[in-house]
This record gives sequence, C-alpha cells and structure tokens, in this order.
Amino acid sequence: MVLADLGRKLNAALSSLNRAPVVDDKVLDALLKEVCAALLESDVNVKLVAQLRQKVKTKVKAALESGADKGKEQNRRHVVQKAVFDELVQLVDPGVEPYKPKKGHPNVIMAVGLQGNGKTTTCTKLAVYYQRRGFKSCIVCADTFRAGAFDQTRQSATKAKVAYFGSYTETDPVTIAAQGVAKFKKERFDVIIVDTSGRHKQESELFREMVQIGEAVQPDQTVMVLDASIGQAAEAQARAFKESANFGAIIVTKMDGHAKGGGAISAVAATKTPIIFLGVGEHLHDLDKFSPQPFISKLLGLGDMQGLVEHMQDIATQNPDKQKEMAKKLEEGKLSIRDWREQIQNVMNMGPLSKIASMIPGLPQDLLQGSDEEGTLRMKRMIYITDSMTAAELDSDGSMFMEWGKDGKPTGLTWRVQRVARGSGTSVREVEDLLCQYRMMANMAKQAGGKNGWLQAIQKMQ
Ligand code: GDP
Repeated sequence: MVLADLGRKLNAALSSLNRAPVVDDKVLDALLKEVCAALLESDVNVKLVAQLRQKVKTKVKAALESGADKGKEQNRRHVVQKAVFDELVQLVDPGVEPYKPKKGHPNVIMAVGLQGNGKTTTCTKLAVYYQRRGFKSCIVCADTFRAGAFDQTRQSATKAKVAYFGSYTETDPVTIAAQGVAKFKKERFDVIIVDTSGRHKQESELFREMVQIGEAVQPDQTVMVLDASIGQAAEAQARAFKESANFGAIIVTKMDGHAKGGGAISAVAATKTPIIFLGVGEHLHDLDKFSPQPFISKLLGLGDMQGLVEHMQDIATQNPDKQKEMAKKLEEGKLSIRDWREQIQNVMNMGPLSKIASMIPGLPQDLLQGSDEEGTLRMKRMIYITDSMTAAELDSDGSMFMEWGKDGKPTGLTWRVQRVARGSGTSVREVEDLLCQYRMMANMAKQAGGKNGWLQAIQKMQ
C-alpha cells in the first residue's frame, strides 16, 4: 500500500473513534483490527504488528485503570488515540540518534548499498540538502566498477551545482576516494559525500572494497542506501551489510508510490539503525528528513510543526534576519496575517509544494491534491487575497474582519471581507476560507508554544 493510502487508512480508523458513542473493548478491538490490517497490507512484519496490538491494549488498560478517563468518553478516546499514535511511532523508531554534520568541520559521509537502490541519486540529493542549509558540499565518485558511474555523478552534480571529483582513468576506487576526500578537505568543504560501488563480481569483493574505502577516508558517517520496494526484507539486507561494512544510518529510497514502504521502514527500525532520510522521488529535492514522531504525524495528516519550524530555520540560512524573526514568531505563536502570507510565499519558494504543505497543520487538504502546479495556483489566489488587504489588516490577527457580539463571539463578517474579495478578484467564500485557515494556523502555533508542543496542540484540536 502506498504510504499516503496507509496514512489515510490509519487516520480513518482513528477518526472512527470520534463517531463511536462509547469507547469500549469492542470498539477498541475493531479499531486495532483496522490499524493492523492496514499495517500488514504495507508489508509490516506480522510479529511487529501483533506486538503493536498487544502494547496498545496494555497501555489503554493501564491508563484507564489509573483513572485517566475520569469517566469522560472524550478522554477515553484520547487515551486510545494517543496509545495508537505512540505505538506507531515506536514501530518506526530505532531509538538511536544519528550523527549530525557539524559546520566548520569536514564531515565525510560514505554511501554504501546495492546497485540500483538509488545510491548515486541519493548522494546528489544529500549534497543539495546540505548545500541549501549552508554546508559547502561535494561528491566523490569512487565507483569504478560500473561503467558510466562517474558520468552519472558528473551530470547530476553539475545540474545540482555541486562540486564533484572522480576519474576516467584511475581504476582503484580506494585511491580515488582518498584523493577526492583529501582535495575537498584542503578546499575546506563541510560535507564530503563518497559514493561507492554497489556491485562486484563477487559479493565478498564488494564488502572488502567498502571496508578499504572506509579505512582510507575515515568517514564520520557511513550511510546505507536501501530500496523501499523490498519491504520487510530490508531487515535481512541491512543485517548482511552491517556484518561486513558497518554503517551508522540508513536512507530508504523510492518511498514514493511504493507498496511496501511501511514494511521497509519498520524492518529497518528493528535493526536499531536510525533512518535519516527517505527518498521520495527522482528529483533533486525529493529527499525528506526522517524522524519517527513527525513522520507518523505527517502520515496521519496531522501536519509536522517540528519539521515546519526546522524548515523555517533552514530558510533562515538564506535570509537570516527576516526568517529568524519569523521562526521565533511561529514558536511564540504570535502570527499576524502578514506573517501567514509570508509563510505561504516561503512555501512557494521552497521547492515542491506538496512536501512542505503537508507539514503545515491547518492547510486545506485539497491543496495537497492534484499537481504541484494546481496547488501553487491555489496558493497564488491566497496571496492575491492578502494583497488586497490594507497594512492594518495584514498586521492584525484577523479579528477586524468579524462582527463581534456582546458575548465576545463572532456574529458575522464585516464589509472588509467583501472589499477584499472584490479587490482580489476572488469570492467572499475564499476570503473567509483564508481567514479561517489563518486562525487555525495561528491557534495551532500558539498552543504549540514551541517546537515540541505540537502534539499536545493536535490532541487538543481533536
Ligand atoms: P545506484 O545504482 O544505487 O547508484 O542507483 P541510482 O542512483 O542510479 O538509481 C537507480 C534508479 O532509481 C534511477 O532511475 C533513479 O532515478 C531511481 N531513484 C533513486 N531514488 C529514487 C526515489 O527516491 N524515488 C524514485 N521513484 N526513484 C528513485
């Protein structure tokens, strides 16, 4: 099952709780049956699925016995939803922190993995990822086994505007790797990615070569690149590599549209090796940072505040003063409509829309449907709306667009809404929608009150 389908099914199962008049054992069993069926369809190992079912039951029982439900049906729902959420996180969490490249230090990252898994593509994606975050990045092609490997690196690195090193004449991969790393270290590169061969006449030779390259370049991190389409067989492949060429982290590629993605991720987590990124397409930007909790949150369509804040901080490296201020506002929950507009603009400037939009809680889901072009068009209309607002309106929290009753509750819309709709060539409905989305976002940020508070905010909204 494609990951998005898995997410939809899990979400549907969890949301079905909201419709159940009482949350008793029968309802919990039905929910767990749905959740487990969805996971199995995604090729998650039967044993892991059975464990998840058992753990959720135990957790819910313990929470209810300790009085967490206080007799309220709403609280029982939250107990169950949180238990399922937490166990889904556990399923993809290896419990190990990966190495984090440091600035001002030559971070050598060596990529290993079988040919065809997406290693060369991923090396370029990684270089682009770090380059965008202010690391001077480069690639060393140490694959001399496959004819055309260097050409592939050269082409993709040139396209990505990333420095590269390789040779058409030198046949010893260890020499090339050592030369390339030495050269880039001298030139003070921050991230040096070494791409190795993925095939040999004999497997043992491949592993021997990896070890030799590793000894020559002394990587700070060795990353195994693994294809999601092998599903739970990922565990065996990862273990086989680990026995010969030890590695510290994994990147799972081809997560886009592959039926067994969930199986691959959970299988890797079972080897206690951190997954650091997911490859989600063939383009340079199709690389998603992976952390267990935000991954599950995004999978369930709950947005990813943590990822969003990190993204904002990433843009901060390109436009430091302005964006740092924005990230701070987001964390403090003080967003005006102007900030919201800036955020939409940033999203539009930050590459593939669907990826970033899925991080923003409160953005309408239909924005994610259809092509990126369609989504961009919808976002442009949102910008047109804000373009027709006055400075005072932009700097406000949107309350001046509402009529307020004596009890402090909104009773209707003011003339401003019509004026903005007319001015922007949109409809009153669209302006209303935008204000509604802005409010949701602002409230969410306020409740989140920081990077890690998002989960509570989401739970409060359910
Ligand atoms: P290598 O032999 O391991 O170096 O693999 P390549 O980098 O040459 O990739 C093999 C194929 O997989 C190429 O056609 C890539 O475009 C494709 N590929 C790599 N990563 C992804 C991914 O995340 N998603 C998709 N859909 N294709 C990918």
